[in-house]
Amino acid sequence: MVQPKLFDTIVLGAGWSGAVAARDLAAKGHSVLVLEARDRIGGRAKTWSRGDVKIDVGCSWIHGYKEGNPTRTIAKELGVTAHLPKPAEGVIYGPEGPLSSTAASALRASLSSAQASLKTPHPAPPPSASLASALFSSTSPLFTSSTPKPSSDVQNTSPANPDAVPTDSAPAPPKDLAESFARTLEIGLGLKLEQASLKWAGWESATSFAGSDAAPEGGYEALVKKAFGPVEIKLGEEVVSVKYADGAVQVTTVSGETYRGKTVVCTIPLGVLKQLPEEFFFPSLPPARKETIQGTHVGVLEKLLLHYPKAWWPNADTVGSYTFLPTSSTPNENSSLAEIFSGSSLVCANFAGPSLPNSTPTLLTYLSETPARLLLAHPPEQVAKAYHEFLIKRFKPTSTPPEPTEYALTDWHKDKYAYGATTTPSIVSEDGERSPLDFKELSRPLWDGRLGFAGEHTEMDHRGSVAGAVVSGQREGERVARLLNRLADE
Ligand SMILES: Cc1cc2nc3c(=O)[nH]c(=O)nc-3n(C[C@H](O)[C@H](O)[C@H](O)COP(=O)(O)OP(=O)(O)OC[C@H]3O[C@@H](n4cnc5c(N)ncnc54)[C@H](O)[C@@H]3O)c2cc1C
Repeated sequence: MVQPKLFDTIVLGAGWSGAVAARDLAAKGHSVLVLEARDRIGGRAKTWSRGDVKIDVGCSWIHGYKEGNPTRTIAKELGVTAHLPKPAEGVIYGPEGPLSSTAASALRASLSSAQASLKTPHPAPPPSASLASALFSSTSPLFTSSTPKPSSDVQNTSPANPDAVPTDSAPAPPKDLAESFARTLEIGLGLKLEQASLKWAGWESATSFAGSDAAPEGGYEALVKKAFGPVEIKLGEEVVSVKYADGAVQVTTVSGETYRGKTVVCTIPLGVLKQLPEEFFFPSLPPARKETIQGTHVGVLEKLLLHYPKAWWPNADTVGSYTFLPTSSTPNENSSLAEIFSGSSLVCANFAGPSLPNSTPTLLTYLSETPARLLLAHPPEQVAKAYHEFLIKRFKPTSTPPEPTEYALTDWHKDKYAYGATTTPSIVSEDGERSPLDFKELSRPLWDGRLGFAGEHTEMDHRGSVAGAVVSGQREGERVARLLNRLADE
């Protein structure tokens, strides 16, 4: 029987990490094949597109654009412009309507002080302590007035960074509003504050790319497609087993095709690794790796997009984002759609605003774990309809607004090739302490280095981001190239 062609490297997955590993290896002259389960390139880079309107419903921002994020360099090499958003006003809606700018400043300042006070606390709290336990304690700076700090050049009010918190000075805000506003942190974290480990709070802030954010023109999906260059990619090829024998790795896909590589780089997301059958890898993964895969957390973050014929919401041309604080109690499985929206802290980016070029009458709302899980139990068209009605209740327009002409609701949480948005910071766990070292463990190659792992979940310093995926792809590209050179010399 004729053996299939032996590739230098087979990359599993055509997201950001796969793109970077594949293009770097191909650029060094190695033969590379990419196998992707979906019928499109990009993974968690996905752009909603209608004509010229392009809005990212997966990753959207190059975080730390001016602070060294390597995605900027890739975009530049490929001739793709990225836009730093113009500062724009951010409006916070309390239960009674929009807050005054003084009241909004008080909320932002108190949350900012509370966050600053919780960064890598010393002495280290017990692993059972959560971010919520400190943030909502009676002595928390969340409930006291705060001192001025320099503000960043990107305000929380732009669609670029709706969950970031600029800082300024203000008196103490009402406790219930401060708590509700703090819940917006759950959007970026991908989990409830009660689940996030206090011990590791802010641990990444020293290493991750942060400060300025920029949006790639045309969306992230087009950029990652370009990043692959001429590398051979087979779409619709879900990998079902990876076996190492006789100095080669054999990869079998759901269609029954078998491919052979001297090496393999696996970028399958952590959420998917958790679900793989025991026999997927042969020899099977070591016990420590299996334990880390199960113990490391994948978070929930979804986006709900409503596109209108015209922007009907207040000050659409000046506002960057609207934050809605709850008017009712925390929702649960028995809550109606209206109650899920009214009981949640929501951040809604206004694409009709001045922040980015190509303004469009579109609102994009970020859903944290609690509303996301509850909403995903309903048909998306009902969710979109209920959200439109919620917006009317909160914005109180003086005339009947137009109905949305388009909507989109992501389901990264149930997507079988993602099973979640991204890894989260280390969690409070009953089954032994979790720490950022988990991300290191997930990165370690196996099988004499023939099986490598890349993906955002494998980068201790940049987990949960495109930067993490890119850095991991670079890391594995370099490591595998060294290994291939050594094998060639043997
Ligand atoms: C809603 C949302 C918003 C985000 N916002 C930002 C942001 O603004 N900025 C930022 O930096 N990051 C953001 N992120 C995170 C960022 O999108 C990810 O960290 C990054 O895209 C992950 O890239 P990756 O290559 O590790 O994984 P992926 O992009 O998931 O790529 C893995 C690939 O493997 C494929 N695959 C899975 N199983 C198999 C199989 N069995 N066989 C073959 N292929 C398989 C998948 O289909 C996928 O294409 C966001 C994520 C989400 C979900």
